[in-house]
Amino acid sequence: MASSSFQPLQGMSDIAPPDVYLWQMLEARAREVFARYRFEEVRTPILEKTALFTHSLGDTTDVVTKEMYCLEDRGGRKLSLRPEGTAGSVRYIASGAEQTANARMYYMGPMFRCERPQAGRKRQFHQIGLEAAGAPNPLADAEVIALQLNLLSAWGLEGAKIRLNTIGLPEERAAVLEGLRNAIRPRFSELPEDAQQRFETNVLRLLDSKDPAVQAVIADVPSVTELLSQESRDYLNTVVETLRSLEIDVEIDTSLVRGLDYYVHTVWEVVHGGLGAQNALSGGGRYQVQVGSRTIDGVGFAMGMERMIAALESTGITADQFAPEPAVFIVSLGEAALKENLLLMQMLRQRGIACEMELTNRKIKAQMKRADKLGARQVIIRGDTELENGTFVVKNMEEGTQQELELPELMNLLT
Ligand code: AMP
Repeated sequence: MASSSFQPLQGMSDIAPPDVYLWQMLEARAREVFARYRFEEVRTPILEKTALFTHSLGDTTDVVTKEMYCLEDRGGRKLSLRPEGTAGSVRYIASGAEQTANARMYYMGPMFRCERPQAGRKRQFHQIGLEAAGAPNPLADAEVIALQLNLLSAWGLEGAKIRLNTIGLPEERAAVLEGLRNAIRPRFSELPEDAQQRFETNVLRLLDSKDPAVQAVIADVPSVTELLSQESRDYLNTVVETLRSLEIDVEIDTSLVRGLDYYVHTVWEVVHGGLGAQNALSGGGRYQVQVGSRTIDGVGFAMGMERMIAALESTGITADQFAPEPAVFIVSLGEAALKENLLLMQMLRQRGIACEMELTNRKIKAQMKRADKLGARQVIIRGDTELENGTFVVKNMEEGTQQELELPELMNLLT
């Protein structure tokens, strides 16, 4: 079979050096920030029962109806690759000793959605996200949004904007949906066919449609906030005021509704101008998720790592900036030195010094060329003479100078 047949599937990629250095930076700094806010990591399985997602994400959402990778195992069980991280994290929160506490969990890893691949949309993509369990409290929402901004600045991203809205409480949802339908109904026939379907199944999604025909119809429709209770409007105001008191500016965007069914109260998105049409770096919100007989309240967000990287790159940040420091390179002249240098390399590594060497007995020129290519700043050269004298020739590649040292001096130089 031609090797091209073994390429990753469409919409999925290998992530390798140098790109992977940027990924590692994002992950490492995220862990630092999460630790400061006292969030702990949960690693949930990538493959789950399909019911976990249909149950918690709602079975009319696009993610569940159109985009999940579903399969049956040998026992005929219906399984799905996780399309997002909240369902699994919340299942964990509901199952453990944490269930009564205000669990604060974060996750990072691959998610799968069988969408049409395009710029900013992959079929395997990666998210870094978190969930803070606990009853609705505008201060908790504000804290999570503040954390997210802290994270963006730890990553060095400038120019991101937060768009915030409320979608109110579940008990108000019926009235809001009815209010929207009543306002849209006189112009129903102008809607395209799929939008007519959404009118019935998920009318909220018409509000953030990018289709001009839909936008024309909804232009005069009241905003969700206008259809909500005073209590819900107050909740949103407290979130905004709390953020302002933390010197965080957010933009209210009444067209923002978000795709999943489980949201209550606050929803938000982080967008960045450096991205194309798919400009959302992250989605977040407060939710109520049913897990078995339990209802878990929480607030959280998920950031798309691929888009985060694209946004960083649009501001001039490159993966090379996060490449590991070059290692010490060891050159061996002759069989005896080759063996002794294996021991030397072992000792250096045990002392925390990164080093590498040529493992075959090649000519010195070829070995030096490799050291140069790897960007080594120091090269240690040993042949029979040095072995006899118990010394090490060290070449400083930047300055082109060379000196002969004994072991203690060598260690001083390298550590
Ligand atoms: P969601 O779980 O749909 O709220 O998505 C949260 C974030 O994940 C989005 O804002 C994107 O940054 C990212 N994301 C979602 N779907 C994809 C995808 N198919 N490809 C790449 N990133 C995605």
